[in-house]
Amino acid sequence: MDAEQLREQGHKMVDFIADYYKTIETFPVLSQVQPGYLRKLLPDSAPNYPDSLQHVLNDVQEKILPGVTHWQSPNYFAYFPSNSSVAGFLGEMLSAGLNIVGFSWITSPAATELETIVLDWLAKALQLPGDFYSTGQGGGVIQGTASEAVLVVLLAARDKILRKVGRSALPKLVTYASDQTHSALQKACQIAGLNPELCRLLNTDSSTNYALSPDVLSEAISNDMASGLIPFFLCATVGTTSSTAVDPLSALGKIAKTNELWFHVDAAYAGSACVCPEFHHYIDGVEEADSFNMNAHKWFLTNFDCSLLWVKDRSALIQSLSTNPEFLKNKASQENTVIDYKDWQIPLGRRFRSLKLWMVLRLYGLEGLRSYIRNHIEMAAYFEELVGQDARFKVIAPRTFSLVCFRLLPPLNSADHGNKLNRDLLDLVNSTGNVFITHTVLSGEYILRFAVGAPLTERRHVNMTWQILQDKATALLESL
Ligand code: PLP
Repeated sequence: MDAEQLREQGHKMVDFIADYYKTIETFPVLSQVQPGYLRKLLPDSAPNYPDSLQHVLNDVQEKILPGVTHWQSPNYFAYFPSNSSVAGFLGEMLSAGLNIVGFSWITSPAATELETIVLDWLAKALQLPGDFYSTGQGGGVIQGTASEAVLVVLLAARDKILRKVGRSALPKLVTYASDQTHSALQKACQIAGLNPELCRLLNTDSSTNYALSPDVLSEAISNDMASGLIPFFLCATVGTTSSTAVDPLSALGKIAKTNELWFHVDAAYAGSACVCPEFHHYIDGVEEADSFNMNAHKWFLTNFDCSLLWVKDRSALIQSLSTNPEFLKNKASQENTVIDYKDWQIPLGRRFRSLKLWMVLRLYGLEGLRSYIRNHIEMAAYFEELVGQDARFKVIAPRTFSLVCFRLLPPLNSADHGNKLNRDLLDLVNSTGNVFITHTVLSGEYILRFAVGAPLTERRHVNMTWQILQDKATALLESL
């Protein structure tokens, strides 16, 4: 590492990235390349000799950027957002610069301690119950993704119940969630070696706005117990991926407690909104949870990856995930006076991710983050109003945060009930390259999802997207 070379080339790279952001609206939001495009453009083997940074940057511009889907474009309304910000970027840069691997406290005390402090700060901002703070039996940890978060708590819950009932009971363990729960839970069940048929994804429908009904859960648990099975884990979601449904945490949590289930709350997307007092009620009942997760990398101005997980009983995680090989032993760990985050996660190595979250909190402040989120929610409400004013369209599920689920209504007597129509509309809209939105299916209906959350989005981008949707809808309906 040559410090002067880093200074010179680092400045060039920052210029390159700043120019990218300046011109980001000129790129097609959804990459329009075909599969395999890049192999045709790059050589068959790695270069034997060094090249110049300028040549590499030229290739990025000409060959890589066409294959990039621009998640930071203000016209990106797909899936859920994945935020970047100046603070998040600078934090990532600092983390790359220090390039530590902070698996145990001793490998970089600041990395562990900053992570613990920043997660306690956010627990406070979210008004999580005191049991989730590191000062008690619980605490927070940064995982890479919500998928890893649900996996580690599922493993902790699995091992906890198996310690009680014996390891041979593994095939009888039952997991509960709604059919709107993110597929990350199913993957976690597969990895945890659970019987896939006992991952119960309970039915939801429009009568509960796609939230899990406590009665449905109670009945499923009773039936399973009557069959000799062992209910052990419940995953509720605040802000489901398809429609941002909110499961009733208090009622579900009470059922979990009565039946001694581990209760995990996945607020990967919507958790960020709950730092605003007016949206905090969506996590009322989180007191009942054993673990709670929110992705700061989705909607909290923190560059990917940064998924925040809190648990009430850190020893359950540690019992499942710790190892203690000779080559990692050290005085602080042996004396049990420190946190070794290697025992709270799947991998050993871990990045200094708390730096970027700390920088986001320092440089924007909670008030800055609150107004950022409110602004997105207002824009989504505005889009919802626009959809409501055009009788050809319909808002399909109630808007709770910054996602609007809607569809173009099919002409009367249409054979496909609008599914093909909306799929065609989505293709037409996205192929313009001017915007990117995605879809879901609710109650068998193909629905369009408009998720506001890119940091650069302004009302004019919402207006433009709506104009494109209307124009393409007109063309489509005329062509029928
Ligand atoms: N949970 C919910 C509610 C989500 O919306 C998502 C992704 O969008 C996930 C979990 C999975 O997130 P990750 O990519 O961090 O694993």
